Amino acid sequence: MKLISDLPLARFDTDRAAGMRSNANWLTDAWASDSTRILVVQEGNVPVTDDVSLIWVKPSAISEPLEQVRDSAVLLGVDTDHTYIALVNDVASLDAISWLSLRGIGSQLSSRDVGLAIAAVALNSWHATHKYCPRCGTATLVVQAGWARHCPTDNSEHYPRTEPAMIAAVNDDKDRILLGRRNEWQPGWFSTLAGFVEAGESAEACVVREVFEEAGVHVDPSSLIYLGSQPWPFPASLMLGYRATAVSTELAREEAEMAEVRWFSKEEFEAACIKQELRLPNDSTIAFHLIQHWYGKPIPTEWTRK
Ligand SMILES: [Zn+2]
Repeated sequence: MKLISDLPLARFDTDRAAGMRSNANWLTDAWASDSTRILVVQEGNVPVTDDVSLIWVKPSAISEPLEQVRDSAVLLGVDTDHTYIALVNDVASLDAISWLSLRGIGSQLSSRDVGLAIAAVALNSWHATHKYCPRCGTATLVVQAGWARHCPTDNSEHYPRTEPAMIAAVNDDKDRILLGRRNEWQPGWFSTLAGFVEAGESAEACVVREVFEEAGVHVDPSSLIYLGSQPWPFPASLMLGYRATAVSTELAREEAEMAEVRWFSKEEFEAACIKQELRLPNDSTIAFHLIQHWYGKPIPTEWTRK
């Protein structure tokens, strides 16, 4: 089985220029250059035009003094036309038309823009919550063009954390799919089951545990097929997607988390989607693509929640 190659938030085609992150002169030149493009991130959202294109601005468009914002800058990458930098600590204001989350619009952006913006959003959330050294509590300094923080007291370096989460399209021997609705979701909102990897746990063990905890269904660990991953930095996840085969079908939902868990045949799935009794995650999510992988043909966007 081939990997799902077009996961929307996994697209990336720009050189991240990691070798330039500690080159102060090169970074100073980049800030002075008219060809540099800045993406301002505010509270995890990005500025977009009415037709949902990212708004990149020149350094001269940033009204705040450069000395004031440079500690909040992240070098995102370079291509033949531009150097791309993000301002991630809510330090700059911008008269953008609207601020939106990549959760909703990721699939509509170009691969260049989504690849750069997803890193900017991930670092926005990391810097906002990791201002102090976890060893000694000293306020840390931003280094490596926004990709690390340094503690001046004990000289430790700290890097952005990514939390792996497993998500699985579980099938039974009749090719039905197991979907669940979380307690906080509206009636009809269903998705594949997912959960965070616990300390000391493998990806495979996590899938088996989560599916059993949430739905009471046993999965054969040797049936797992890895289908791909995409970042989900809301705030810090990496979603790893699997197909899995159940060895039991009786359902016993985890009442603290799940309002409903159900098996759907393709006919039941289609009928429920058409009647809008079933609303799927939007097409920026890996869940949508795992469900589409099982369904075997393109899923109309009218079947998704906005
Ligand atoms: Zn420290």
